Amino acid sequence: MTDRAQIRLPGGLWLEGNCHREVILRSLRGRDEELLNESAEALPAERVSGLLACCVERLEGFGELTPSTAAQLTVGDREALLLHLRRLTLGARLQCLAQCSACGESIDLDLSVDDLLQPPYSDWRPEYETRCPTPDGPLQVRYRLPTGADQRAAALLAAEDLAAAQSLLLRRCVIEVRAGDGSLIEPEEVEASLLQHLPRELAERDPQAESILDFVCPACGAAGRVLLDAADFLFRELGSRRGELYRQVHRLALHYHWSEAEILSLPWSKRQRYLGLLAEGAEWTAS
Ligand SMILES: [Zn+2]
Repeated sequence: MTDRAQIRLPGGLWLEGNCHREVILRSLRGRDEELLNESAEALPAERVSGLLACCVERLEGFGELTPSTAAQLTVGDREALLLHLRRLTLGARLQCLAQCSACGESIDLDLSVDDLLQPPYSDWRPEYETRCPTPDGPLQVRYRLPTGADQRAAALLAAEDLAAAQSLLLRRCVIEVRAGDGSLIEPEEVEASLLQHLPRELAERDPQAESILDFVCPACGAAGRVLLDAADFLFRELGSRRGELYRQVHRLALHYHWSEAEILSLPWSKRQRYLGLLAEGAEWTAS
């Protein structure tokens, strides 16, 4: 399994009129897992920004990524990076559990990361315009797509008030609203109409932001859908291996006499390969 990949973001980061789209991404190191474990209590959006700052080695025309720049990437670009990171580190196949809403059957879905990745978007801009229908006639709305920073801000509110979180996200992404006669309108005045219209528009412009999987229930034949949140999926998967990291470092240090820093900077696949060799060695000794 290759440890690095050049990938093209579905969107790209807009900075001063230039779009930065090509990324060199590397797989997880023990050091990154350690950082993730230490940030287990932080908001998922913050953990994603921290992780991407570690694993994105270069953003074309920009250089290294800091957590605050990673937070400026759109939700879809961040999801795409996490899916690529999953593929580089643990492989492309993933199992996801879904439940049939018709009969309640639990279904194991066997997926490939490639099925979840969207091709680069053809119409990608720093901001968009749309006509939003209201009872008093259509509005002209300028908006941008939600980023990691928007997700973080909304998540701070979401635990207590989901509706407030939704309207905060909307307020952050709406740049300008004009009535039919061209006069400016405060977004708060037409929030209900915006909330009805804009989420669909955002999902169409950044489809990678939500990976929705269609399935057919093998028990009753009903069609179902499940949402896969790449961050949630990856953090759960890594969280379940949390206790293994230092045990692995211990085993490798004991046999190879590498320092902790050296072991924690090994690519995931290489660390597993050496552990595999040690396990084989143990079998030889035993037989
Ligand atoms: Zn069913």
